[in-house]
Amino acid sequence: MGGSVPDALAHEVSGNRWRMNGTAARPVRCAALTGLCGEESICSIYEARPSACRAFAMASERCAEARAAHGLGPVDPSWDAGGGLPLAA
Ligand code: SF4
Repeated sequence: MGGSVPDALAHEVSGNRWRMNGTAARPVRCAALTGLCGEESICSIYEARPSACRAFAMASERCAEARAAHGLGPVDPSWDAGGGLPLAA
């Protein structure tokens, strides 16, 4: 894969396009996501996550829309107060 995502977690779609395993399935469940959505979950490769994930801003309007689609409320704005990694949706 072009970035630093472990090859075992993604597959080539076409040419230089890769996709995280599990993101084409229904229900969607990225292979890098650990934990239980809505309770406690986190990206297991956060520092090496792909560019599409880096472009998706935590607590943004799109983030709130995606969370709402899964029955979750918006991210608590205090999530980064402690400087830790955010919980993934
Ligand atoms: S940020 Fe989410 S979608 Fe992206 S690699 Fe991590 S768990 Fe997967």
